[in-house]
Order: sequence, then C-alpha cells, then structure tokens
Amino acid sequence: MSDYDFDLFVIGAGSGGVRASRVASAHGAKVAVAEEYRVGGTCVIRGCVPKKLLVYGAHFAGDLKDARRFGWKVPDCAFEWPVLRDNVLADVDRLEGLYKNTLDSHGVELIPERATITGPHSVKLANGREVSARHVLIATGAWPVVPEVEGAEHGLTSNEMFHLDETPRRLVIIGGGYIANEFAGIFHQFGSQVTLVNRSSTLLRGYDESIRDRLMQISTTKGIQFRFNAQLDRIVKNEDDTLCVHFSEGDPIPCDVLLFAAGRRPHTGGLGLENAGVEVDGKGAIKVDEYSRTSCESIYAVGDVTDRLQLTPVAIREGHAFADTVFGDNPRTVDYDCVPSAVFSDPPMAGVGLTEAQAKNKLGTVKVYTSDFRPMKNVLAGREERALYKMVVDATTDCVVGLHMIGPDAPEILQAAAIAVKAGLTKQQFDDTVALHPSMAEELVLLK
Ligand SMILES: Cc1cc2nc3c(=O)[nH]c(=O)nc-3n(C[C@H](O)[C@H](O)[C@H](O)COP(=O)(O)OP(=O)(O)OC[C@H]3O[C@@H](n4cnc5c(N)ncnc54)[C@H](O)[C@@H]3O)c2cc1C
Repeated sequence: MSDYDFDLFVIGAGSGGVRASRVASAHGAKVAVAEEYRVGGTCVIRGCVPKKLLVYGAHFAGDLKDARRFGWKVPDCAFEWPVLRDNVLADVDRLEGLYKNTLDSHGVELIPERATITGPHSVKLANGREVSARHVLIATGAWPVVPEVEGAEHGLTSNEMFHLDETPRRLVIIGGGYIANEFAGIFHQFGSQVTLVNRSSTLLRGYDESIRDRLMQISTTKGIQFRFNAQLDRIVKNEDDTLCVHFSEGDPIPCDVLLFAAGRRPHTGGLGLENAGVEVDGKGAIKVDEYSRTSCESIYAVGDVTDRLQLTPVAIREGHAFADTVFGDNPRTVDYDCVPSAVFSDPPMAGVGLTEAQAKNKLGTVKVYTSDFRPMKNVLAGREERALYKMVVDATTDCVVGLHMIGPDAPEILQAAAIAVKAGLTKQQFDDTVALHPSMAEELVLLK
C-alpha cells in the first residue's frame, strides 16, 4: 500500500506530460495528469499542428498560380478562410480525442483542472481537492510574451490566430523568431499585407546567417515589409476597431490585426513552486539537472517550462527519459547535440549542427560548401526564388558539423540528412553516396 494517492502526478497534458504519463503508467506507476485547457498541449492545440496545416493551406496560393505553367486550366480561385480554419480546428479536435484515448488506454487518470503545488508531495486542484503523490512532474509549457506597453490588450498572440473570424487586410507582427516568420509567410499567402517589426536588426537569431539573409531577400521580394530596430511605444484602437501601432521613432503603422510573436516564457506563474522549494532562473525557467530533477527531490520538470530547447520532440524525449529513469529502473538523459529544427516560412528553412559562425568559433578552420540553385519546379513555374544549401565541415577531420538549407521541402530533406550529421559522417562519405536524380536533395552529395 502506497502512502500517496498517486505514484506520479503530472501537471500539464502537453507533449512532455502525456509522454511521461503513459510511459510511467506502462512501467506500473499509478498516474494522474491535470490539464487546465485541452489535452495535447501547445503543439497539438495551438502550435505545430494547426500551424503546419495553415502552411499547407497557404501554399495553394502559389501552387494554383504555378499550375497554369504546368498546363492546368485553373479558373480564378478565391480563398475562404473560415473553411480552412474550421477544417483545421476539426482536425485538432480529432487529435485531442486520440491523446485522450492514449491516456485512457494506459490507465492514466485525466483531471481536467488547473493544478498548483502545495508541497513536495502535494498538489491542489482548482476545485479545492488536494492530492498527494510520491513524485510530481511539472510539464506546464511556455506562454507567449506580451510586451508591457499601453494598449497591449488590443494585440493577439499565436494562441488566438487560429480562431480569427477573417484574415486581416493588414497584419503587423512584432517579433523576429520562427513563429513571427511563419505567420508572416502564411498570412501573406492568404493575401494580407504583412509588416514584421523587430526590435533588433537580426531575424531568426541562432540560424545560419546566409540562410536567414536568403529568407529575408525572398520575403522582401514577395512584398512582406520589415522594420528593424523598432521600439514599441503604444497601441491605439480606432473607432472602427482598426489599430495604430506607434513606435518611439518612425511613423506609426496602421493595421487590422496585431500579433505579438516576441518569444515564449516558461509557464511557472502562480504554480506554487515556492511551496516546495523549486528554484527557477532569471527567466522563470525551472532549474533541473540532467535527469530533469528540480531542486526539490520529489519534483521533476520537462519541456518548455525548463527552457532547454523549446521543441516538441525534445519535450517528448525529456518526458520519456524521466519516466524510464524514475519508474523504469533505467536512468536516461537526453542528448541535445545535433537537434534539427525548421522554420516553416515561405520557403521553409531547416538546419542541424553548427552554423558557419559557430563552427569557426569552435573549431577554427572549417570548410564551407554551398549550392545556390533554382529548383527545377521553380524554373518551369517562372519563379525566380532560389534555394540555398550550406554544408559546414571540420577542416581537420572532414566531419560534417552543420547542414543548413532554405528551399522547397527543406525540413523533409534535412530530417533525413540530420541522421548523417548526427552519426558524424564525413564530407567524403556524403560524396561517396550516389545522387538520386532528379531531386533537390541530390545537391547534398554533389557539393563542390
Ligand atoms: C505557434 C507555435 C508553433 C510551434 N511550432 C513548432 C514546430 O513546428 N515544431 C516544434 O517542435 N515545436 C513547435 N512549437 C513549440 C512546441 O509547441 C512546444 O515546444 C511543445 O508544445 C512543448 O511541450 P510541453 O510539454 O513542454 O508543453 P505544452 O505542450 O505547452 O503543454 C503544457 C500544458 O500544460 C497545461 N498547463 C499549464 N499550466 C497548468 C496548470 N497549472 N495546471 C494544469 N495544466 C496546466 C497547458 O494548458 C498545456 O496544455 C510551436 C509553438 C507555437 C506556440
């Protein structure tokens, strides 16, 4: 007989929490998970999944135009946002159902309530019920940062963008990260006039510079507008419900929708961490060791709330490793080296390993190989857009230490190539692989 109500109490049924719950349960633990909103978390409900479906929907704007060059008689097509929105939201409902089934079939008790920590082994639910657990796992994710300026309440975050009544005629996006650039591409293709405003002069910090520059050049050519080094001052709502975004310098920008995409902060506010001595860093991220254990021995944390790498596959791995470690008698850590990532911009970009600048800093001498080409499909479609692939190689060992690309299907190609980079293959081994022709990916084995 256990002294506790549960062996494991998980707070947050998102990517990390669901994986940890079901694996711990499969290891024989008695598990409950509390979720204050919807099962599936950010990725499924208001992140990766609905975002990617919008990316697919948006791409038809160009595809339908290009189809004419490929001989198809395409009448003038109109886009109906409510149809796409409702179909996407219906798919999100379907996926949430699957996640609930998974928890159910693994015998995990789902508690649809907000939970807060009241002690090292106790949690309080929104309905007042208090439960005890041998271990608590915090998997509460992250939350969009809303700048503290006058009128900020008139802006939206990515959470609301999936539910718009209509596409905005003019969209202003504050931020320069992947979410900002993805929404810029999506809504530009839907016909919105998009202006992306960034407080520094650098977009997509952390990605390879040449690839970022290429996205910037393509986006500008398409008509997405940019304003750099802009300090937000205030937002004014006009009588006709339109907005005017003011900056400390420069002209204000009028718009119909203002999106804040200026980062995501660990979701730790009001969680009661102080009741169990769980420490956070300056950004509010929960401090953990390599096994995701917090400063309180019985409490662990995984996913965005720890701000290690804010990506779904990483949260899932951390949740899995935690469950194996604590309930599977198999201590496991997560390897953060060579984690591939993508920006589903238009066109998309993707990368793995060191950028050219990082490699030069770390290794000294590096060799860089690039292929700057116009994909065959773009040529026939009459599109000027060029793809760019870059391989960064350690000059001493010939090992490929980084791969970065922008162009059609870059994330799909990069995922496969990331295996080779992770495995530490050399440039020679890439060259020894025969090209698969005709493909864009063949550029990777033909780099000179
Ligand atoms: C627009 C957008 C696009 C994204 N696109 C990608 C992408 O393409 N690829 C990628 O890898 N990642 C992407 N991400 C990031 C990805 O969604 C996160 O990294 C991932 O969801 C983190 O998982 P998690 O388990 O840490 O938290 P989450 O999935 O956020 O789950 C946390 C859950 O905890 C719940 N919760 C919070 N507090 C409490 C409480 N006190 N009590 C009960 N429940 C609580 C929340 O409601 C939420 O359901 C995207 C994110 C956004 C916002």
